Order: sequence, then C-alpha cells, then structure tokens
Amino acid sequence: MIKYLVIGDPIGHSRSPGMQNAAFESCGLGRPYGIRRVAREDLPAFFEFARTHLSGVNLTVPHKTMAAELVDEISPGAKECGSVNTLVIADGRIRGESTDGVGLERALLEVFRLGVSGKRILFCGAGGAARATAVHLARRGAREVNFINRTVEKAETLAALCRRAVPDVECECASPRDEIAARAMLERADVLIQATSLGLKPDDPPPFPPTWLRPGMPLRIFDTIYHPTPLQRYAAAAGIACAGGKEMLIHQGAASFTLWTGLPAPLEAMRRGFEEGTPGQ
Ligand code: NAP
Repeated sequence: MIKYLVIGDPIGHSRSPGMQNAAFESCGLGRPYGIRRVAREDLPAFFEFARTHLSGVNLTVPHKTMAAELVDEISPGAKECGSVNTLVIADGRIRGESTDGVGLERALLEVFRLGVSGKRILFCGAGGAARATAVHLARRGAREVNFINRTVEKAETLAALCRRAVPDVECECASPRDEIAARAMLERADVLIQATSLGLKPDDPPPFPPTWLRPGMPLRIFDTIYHPTPLQRYAAAAGIACAGGKEMLIHQGAASFTLWTGLPAPLEAMRRGFEEGTPGQ
C-alpha cells in the first residue's frame, strides 16, 4: 500500500520513486512510495488527505515554500530557510523538515571530499534550490556564502537570511552582468554551486561566460542538474573538477528515509534505484 508520495507540478521526471522504493525494499519494507502531480492551489487539500492516509511525503517545485506555512510543526532548519521538502506524518500531525541542505553538504563530501567548514561557497542562482541549502552551509561553518544571480534582489534576500542565521558569515551578491564583482567571487571560491535552471534545456547558455573558467583555478563545480550541461562540459575542458546533481538528490532522499524509518539509508540501493528507475516510476 502506498504510504509515501513525492508531489510536485510537474512531477513526471522525478527519480524519487525508483530511489526510495529501492531503499524501502532493501530494508524489507516493500515498495510503499508513489508519485502524484499536485497543482499549487491543491496543496492545502492534499495536506488534509496526507494527514490521515500517509506516513511521509517529499515535496518539490512549486510546493516547498507554501508547505512551510501549512505544517503543524516545523524543524528549526526548515523554518530558518522557509522551505520544506519532507513531511513526517504521525498521529494525524504533520511535521515539516528540510533535507536539501544536508543533502548538498553530504554530496560535496562524497564527490569532492570537501567539508564546508571554513570554505568559500559561491552560489550561482538564488531560487528555491539556493534558498533551501545556503543557510545550512552557513550554519555548517562556511566562511563565505556568496551569490551570483540575474536578479540581484533575490540574492540579497538569501544573503540576509544567511547573515541573520550566522552573523559571522560573509555574504556578497552580484549580477553576472557585473563582471568584475562576479569574477572576483569566482576566483576566490572553493566551490561553485550551480543552482540556476540554466542547463535543464539543451540549448540553454551557461549561467556566466565560460571564459571565466581559467585552467588551473582551484575551484570545484557542483551542478545541481543531474544530466550533463554546457557548464559541466566547459569545466571539464578547463580541467576543473565538476559533478552533476545526482548525489545531492540521493543524500536528501537518504535523510528523508531516515526521518521516516529511523533506519540508516541504504545508499548503494538508492543509487541503483536512481539509475534503474525510469523517471516517474
Ligand atoms: P527556481 O526557484 O525557479 O530558480 C531558478 C534560478 O535560475 C533563479 O536563480 C533564476 O534567476 C535562474 N534563472 C532561470 N532562468 C534564467 C536565465 N534565463 N538567465 C539567468 N538566470 C536564470 O528553481 P529552483 O527550484 O531553485 O531550481 C534550480 C535548479 O536546481 C534546477 O536546475 C533544479 O533542477 C536544481 N535542483 C536540483 C536538486 C538536486 O537534488 N540535485 C534539488 C533541487 C533543485 P532569477 O532569480 O533572476 O529569476
């Protein structure tokens, strides 16, 4: 019986069912995880259904912000960033959690052996993905959390959230059109988190001119998009270590699985489920 769901709109592309069912199955818990398209305006009604019929939910675009307002209880981390990607449901009460930040933190450790404490982090993008993760990285001891974003005001809002949570963290923001300021942040960054939606479509341009990537610069690039993007190709050509977003999805899902079951997540099974599960299955 389905007791867990991933919801969003659109949702057909989601790899979560393949990944989570592989995890549940490898722990002898069957395949209880399904997928449902829920439109933005239907989220309150979905909460009432979930309260009595489900044990857990993952939420993706466009629900993470509104969910933070609808839950009965919210974890401090989710409250701080105003984003909920996981519901834990017990005794008719719904608790909101955010596992995106820890997912990104563990992915950076996994793919680059990079712990964020003391590091200079640069986000490209200031949408939902950056909002859900930036404060967590600041709380984990990042020295700088900077933002390059087309709409600088959105970057400033995230910088303010980070500073409010961690007064010591340094945050700067620039538009990619401000080449001097943006390149200065890129040159000193330990890791760039590509968190724009540029690259989802095959003819998207990279989020900044590829000539800004200098061979030999001591930068790592984590692109939150799973499939190869132009930015990933330019990074490879410049000899810069670069990874796609798969491990972030795996680790945020692993943290959700542990919140629901109390069990350590079977990461290898989840990776196999991610690879084998066709999107939407
Ligand atoms: P979002 O809230 O819609 O934000 C989109 C971001 O992309 C904004 O910063 C936006 O800039 C920028 N952008 C969009 N079109 C642009 C353009 N033509 N030129 C310049 N900048 C542009 O989306 P999101 O939810 O944050 O998702 C962002 C990315 O993260 C997506 O690619 C998604 O696949 C990925 N993601 C990955 C994971 C994972 O587990 N790996 C999890 C969540 C999200 P403005 O602010 O100026 O509009």
